[in-house]
Amino acid sequence: MSKTLITRTKKWLKQRGIEWVIWDLDDTLLETYELFVAKIDKFYKSVCGRLPSGLSQEDFRKIIYKIIARVRKRRSVNPIFWQDVIEQLANKYPDVEPNVFSDNLSVLLEVYQEASALVPNALEVLKIFRKTKIKMAVLTHASQEWTDIKLKTHGLSKFFKDVFTASIDDFKGTKHWQEAIASLGVDPKKVLVVGDSVEGDIRAARKAGVKHLVYVGSSWDLHARGEMPERVIEVENLEGIFGIFSEQEI
Ligand SMILES: [Mg+2]
Repeated sequence: MSKTLITRTKKWLKQRGIEWVIWDLDDTLLETYELFVAKIDKFYKSVCGRLPSGLSQEDFRKIIYKIIARVRKRRSVNPIFWQDVIEQLANKYPDVEPNVFSDNLSVLLEVYQEASALVPNALEVLKIFRKTKIKMAVLTHASQEWTDIKLKTHGLSKFFKDVFTASIDDFKGTKHWQEAIASLGVDPKKVLVVGDSVEGDIRAARKAGVKHLVYVGSSWDLHARGEMPERVIEVENLEGIFGIFSEQEI
């Protein structure tokens, strides 16, 4: 572990008066999008024999993602949204018996029994932050059960003093950031938020008074939608966070 990196990170945080770092979990520290893709591909393999010939795995992914983008506007992240996805697939392919899709719903729901992989170097990044002695918490948008699976699988709990979950029936927004920050008893100006969703993390936390924000590029284009506020540090991936501390003037 680079001592210089720890020193620079610590100095960067200190000079900005940052006392807490609050991380988003899915697609910031974990490759959750990739887990969704894996389950969608598995679902495709279960149903492709009944789909119109010539519909490739790639095309099927695109169709499902278009449907997901639509139904999540209504259902947020409650797994019940998959039920809507299944119904819309049945509508899209009226020649396919509807039970072909509904019989395989469990494949899609496997997502919530597994932990997605960590993004490259997530542990290294967390260890460096921990070495700076900064206090850290998580605000995630998932059920407590699924969150526990993810934290336990990767041994992440030791890094965080608090883990907040935004209700799966809500849209992750300003009130969740406000509640988490109030619960920590810290001035939002002394918080650094790291997340991959422009709306649910970056814009929402800014509205909650958070000045210091790092946006980590997401594979999930749904999360990249929305206008980026000013003075947000954007990095392509989690490792890019160290570029902030080494390249920018501190
Ligand atoms: Mg996320």
